[in-house]
Amino acid sequence: MAAASTARDGEPHTPSLDPGEDPVKTGAPEAINDRRVSLYGPLGQVAGPSRYGKPWKRQQGIKTDVRKGRTLSRSVLVTGGNRGIGLAIAAAFAEQGDKVALTYRSGEPPELKAAGEGSVLAVKCDITSAEDVERAFAEIEAAHGPVEILVANAGITRDTLVLRMSEEDFTDVLDTNLTGSFRVAKRAAKGMLRLKRGRLIFISSVVGLSGSPGQVNYAASKAGLVGMARSLAHELGSRSITANVVAPGFVDTAMTAELGEDRRKQILDAVPLRRYAQPEEIAGVVKFLASAEAAYITGAVVPVDGGLGMGH
Ligand code: NDP
Repeated sequence: MAAASTARDGEPHTPSLDPGEDPVKTGAPEAINDRRVSLYGPLGQVAGPSRYGKPWKRQQGIKTDVRKGRTLSRSVLVTGGNRGIGLAIAAAFAEQGDKVALTYRSGEPPELKAAGEGSVLAVKCDITSAEDVERAFAEIEAAHGPVEILVANAGITRDTLVLRMSEEDFTDVLDTNLTGSFRVAKRAAKGMLRLKRGRLIFISSVVGLSGSPGQVNYAASKAGLVGMARSLAHELGSRSITANVVAPGFVDTAMTAELGEDRRKQILDAVPLRRYAQPEEIAGVVKFLASAEAAYITGAVVPVDGGLGMGH
């Protein structure tokens, strides 16, 4: 058996490996040195101490079971997780054994199974209602503990040209996409501050930075998420809480199915990769931002847009 090295801060590590043992599996420091990437499993698994003197557990701001060398199942909340991108994100976390809560506003909740010790909880919640959000958090905390990873995904569009856009078209979109995200982020931050760790991930859009005709309301709401996430990154960073934005381009979901054939063609012509994204491609990036590997990324806007937003 290889002893998992448990050197205290500042002390040199003296790992003892039996001949033939895989240093990556044991998490010995030389494995970190030589095969840093392969040390991490799909869970953002981290085994053993860092060669920089502190246990990974503290450096990463992620709860890890150092003895077992794996990340513990985390409490994840995905808003609007009943379909589209949100469902793909919830499924991705559930597959890796996290405790996933998803909110749904209408219809029936999806049937998702979690792997390992994880579980999936569907909570009815309209994020424009402060009471709904409070009730949902109470239910989630009772079942899964405080939310450690929040994915603020729920969003709507009310597209029309500016002179036809009513105040209601504007405020409805802002209330859902921006104020709704603020509401859940603020509530999640309360628990994260106590835990001294957490990941806030906001689903914005390529148009938040580039703008888009007919989407004055939507683009304003998505741009607002960038300022909000970056302010949160400043406010909460000292407690190992990161705040990042994912900016998808056009994704194959109900939201884009509404677009006419001409508009779809126009969009595809402008996308260097000449295709829409699949929801799972957004989910993969969100999963990364929630992983141990992304512990030092905060205040970032990560485009997942096939190149559509280059230069913005
Ligand atoms: P969908 O329209 O397929 O799903 C939207 C989700 O948000 C649904 O689960 C919906 O619930 C939920 N939702 C809407 N309003 C509320 C509310 N008031 N309270 C709670 N939940 C609500 O959208 P997508 O999956 O395509 O989009 C997900 C996110 O990604 C959105 O923020 C969107 O702006 C963003 N995005 C999407 C792109 C795309 O091309 N599809 C591109 C860039 C960004 P319900 O089922 O009850 O309506």
